[in-house]
Amino acid sequence: MPRLLLFDIDGTLLDTGGSGGASLLDAAEEIFGVSRQELPPLDLAGATDGGVLRRLFGQVGRDFVPEALQTYLTCYLGHLNRRLQHESFAGKTLPGVGALLAKLHELGGADIGLLTGNVRRGAELKLARFGLGSWFVDGAFGDDAEDRNLLGPVAMHRMSQATGRQYAVEDVIVIGDTPKDIACAHAIGARCLAVGTGHFQADVLRVHQPWQCFDHLLETDRVCELLLKA
Ligand SMILES: [Mg+2]
Repeated sequence: MPRLLLFDIDGTLLDTGGSGGASLLDAAEEIFGVSRQELPPLDLAGATDGGVLRRLFGQVGRDFVPEALQTYLTCYLGHLNRRLQHESFAGKTLPGVGALLAKLHELGGADIGLLTGNVRRGAELKLARFGLGSWFVDGAFGDDAEDRNLLGPVAMHRMSQATGRQYAVEDVIVIGDTPKDIACAHAIGARCLAVGTGHFQADVLRVHQPWQCFDHLLETDRVCELLLKA
């Protein structure tokens, strides 16, 4: 059976330099008429957009209903696109990511998708900013569930539909940068290759017992060997 590799985005593939969180707060100011300084810090690491926004709506006393969420997301995505394209944008891809994706593609033997808390359009905007979008067939997104632990089955199903192949959980590897990525892999019985390029250092991630853990993804051959053959 083919391998299925499911990549997280923020902290794993790229760092938007704070543009994602800033855009969520831009939308809060515009939609709720509050100042970002009045709001508690957003807890974004490993979270889904829906989960973050449910909490935010609660903090400002608004009903978290689908129409209001859609209005908010439309506003957020406009700000995100603006910030990603702005001349002061300070984001970057994380070390080794470009080489790893190219090598995985070259070697073959794995289907590559996403498992991210970003809503689909937000994921597309972030990946497109760095020309990374075409590496990924499909995946699961923050639109699909607020609980990240529910995203694994969605990602497997979507990828099967897109590729025509079935995946066994023992052939699924989640690549992510937070304890929540590790937990969502464990939730489906899959393995997690954790990487300490986000908010958590590798020794903190190891406490959560990922299958593998790296400080970064610079060791292309070693990481490919693990992702494709181990
Ligand atoms: Mg992440």
